[in-house]
Amino acid sequence: MSTAIVRVALPIPLPQSFDYTAENVSAGDLGRCVRVPFGRGEKTGLIVALPDCADLPVDRLKPVIAIQREAPALPADWLAMVEFTARYYQHPLGEVVAMALPPRLRKADAVAGAEADPLLDLTDAGRDALAASKRESRALALLRRLAEGGPCRRSLLRNEDGANPAVADALKRGWIAPCMAAEPAAMAGAPTLTDEQQAAVEIIGAEAGKFQPFLLAGVTGSGKTEVYLRLVAQAIARGEQALMLVPEIALTPQLETRVANRFPAARVVSLHSALGEAARSQGFVQAMEGRAEIVLGTRLSVFTPLPRLGLIVVDEEHDASYKQHEGVRYNARDLAIWRARQRGVPIVLGSATPSLESWHAADTGRYRRVELANRAVAITLPRVRPVDVRREKLQHGVSEHLLRAIEARLQRGEQSLVFLNRRGYAPVLSCPSCGWVSRCPHCTANMVLHLADKRLRCHHCSFDAGIPLACPDCGDQDIQPFGRGTQRLEETLGERFPDARVLRVDRDAARTRSQWEALLDKIGKGEADILVGTQMMAKGHDFPRLTFVGVLNADSSLFAADFRAPERLFQQLMQVGGRAGRGELPGEVMVQTQYPDHPLYKCLEKHDFARYAALQLEERKQARFPPYAANALLCANAPEVATSIAWLKDARAAAMPLAQAYGVQVFDPVPMRMVRLARRERAQLLVEAPARPALQAFLTEWSRHLWALKPPRELRWHLDVDPAEV
Ligand code: ADP
Ligand code: ZN
Ligand code: ZN
Repeated sequence: MSTAIVRVALPIPLPQSFDYTAENVSAGDLGRCVRVPFGRGEKTGLIVALPDCADLPVDRLKPVIAIQREAPALPADWLAMVEFTARYYQHPLGEVVAMALPPRLRKADAVAGAEADPLLDLTDAGRDALAASKRESRALALLRRLAEGGPCRRSLLRNEDGANPAVADALKRGWIAPCMAAEPAAMAGAPTLTDEQQAAVEIIGAEAGKFQPFLLAGVTGSGKTEVYLRLVAQAIARGEQALMLVPEIALTPQLETRVANRFPAARVVSLHSALGEAARSQGFVQAMEGRAEIVLGTRLSVFTPLPRLGLIVVDEEHDASYKQHEGVRYNARDLAIWRARQRGVPIVLGSATPSLESWHAADTGRYRRVELANRAVAITLPRVRPVDVRREKLQHGVSEHLLRAIEARLQRGEQSLVFLNRRGYAPVLSCPSCGWVSRCPHCTANMVLHLADKRLRCHHCSFDAGIPLACPDCGDQDIQPFGRGTQRLEETLGERFPDARVLRVDRDAARTRSQWEALLDKIGKGEADILVGTQMMAKGHDFPRLTFVGVLNADSSLFAADFRAPERLFQQLMQVGGRAGRGELPGEVMVQTQYPDHPLYKCLEKHDFARYAALQLEERKQARFPPYAANALLCANAPEVATSIAWLKDARAAAMPLAQAYGVQVFDPVPMRMVRLARRERAQLLVEAPARPALQAFLTEWSRHLWALKPPRELRWHLDVDPAEV
């Protein structure tokens, strides 16, 4: 028996790992979960190193309780990735591990993920049972699903409520049985590529086996997805695995369906936040053991171990949801690029409206730009024009131009979408006599009026209250909704077009994935004439009868304090414009504005992303914003903003001697724009560096000082590296 030292990353908010002793440890135990004594209790962590000597004298180290050896150890490249994440985002390694590992795998006693997950198919007896059956039942639904969809993993069949007993029952009756792995990818149903698509596939495919980022810039409908699918098929044919990242899986069931239709279900693992724990750990293990060939998932799936990784795709690479805004504040797109480099594989970043960071990287040759300038199916891009509303009397915020355009669609039996740029658009209650507004008592935010259940709700902290009958300050009974939310707009349109079917598509109307899919289905079938929607409507859905998009309140993003707001607006308007006229019918987009000559709208009219990107990049350069600088925010919150500011001042003082050495600038602390959130008051301090390496070096040293700066009890702080807003 030999005693060795194991270094364990534990999920606690401290920037260090902990050493323990263990018997009979080998190099193969690196990357295994382990249960250890900690304080007065026990914790589960991950073995991240087997050091020769410990931080403490060996006789003061405690022995581990148990090393979990039934599950496979996490591979070295995975450890390297979580270590990089911890270092780059200045976050405790144990917490990064706890986020990246499915909870079931973390428990050192349960090995749920590794259990057999056979591919199940209908037997002849099952086919007979299906044909003979008359009454609908769970078992029947299961058989039908297999008959229609082909073989499926047991874990996926189990995902639905009550399906588990049905699966067990059908197995017992011999209606279903494990079958052999499915046939190779079916190219049936794949369209012939356009010349542009063909060229893209060839250029990107030629770099297989090498690190090379590609920016696939293609207008909406240009067939980027088809390019991804071909590249994925090539990778699989080489015996590799592919990782496909999507912004929000709830919003992209279409991509999931297209992948599922093209590749046998046995090969695809889909990972997103709506999955249950069991399914998540099973998918993770299937990928880690190389049994799944395609991982399709949201930002967290960037951490899926893939031993034969050959290709990474990041769809809608500009999307803000790749950045996590709490806990480990990582950006999955950026980590995906790091991972592609680490593994020496190509990565495709696809978008119709790339992020300015990626566009700049293509300008400077770090990425290779591949363009798809034309739509795959012969349709012209929609006509886009600003509608000058400076001299027009609006009807509840909607101009007569827009209403007439909608009317024309109604007469032709086509669909229209009225799109609300959400920023500043939530309806709050206000008093016309004294100016009272429905503020949240806990946040610097206004409570939003929800007409459906007659409540006022804070969208930040979820506090809710009833609607007062009169103004709480002056007693005036004429309090009114101010601003127009989707519900108000729905009413306004309903009054003007009483015979039209108006359908609201926002987060309230589509809380769950099934509600969202039901809405999409309804729209697709033409069961609505006018859609009223927020940014949920902007993303990748094709509605063949939708020919008109009217945009309200776009201007509020032109002058927002957030430096990314105009970029987001342009992206959103290009995307939402892409919804119009995807079928045989040409589309039209109208944007209501008080600034019809603004360059943003001018570029939009010409569908000229390149020109707009060049203008914006020039502005960013002048203002020293990313990508011409690298930023980090140090954020603090406490019951009182003064506490936060005082601590940030100490932090700044600690930074000053380092700042000069690394050439970074550390600004004064300021209260955040929305100071109060959930009874806490927040302040921040901006760090600006000329480039990422300088920022990294500075932060690494500074954060050691920060951990040493004992904060007051009630204060919490975190660093946000490459923040979305500054
Ligand atoms: P993007 O992802 O660039 O917005 P999609 O891949 O969704 O574009 O393609 C838009 C539409 O064109 C889809 O309905 C798709 O099936 C179709 N499509 C893509 N490529 C081709 C092709 N080569 N021939 C015919 N139709 C195609
Ligand atoms: Zn609140
Ligand atoms: Zn009042």
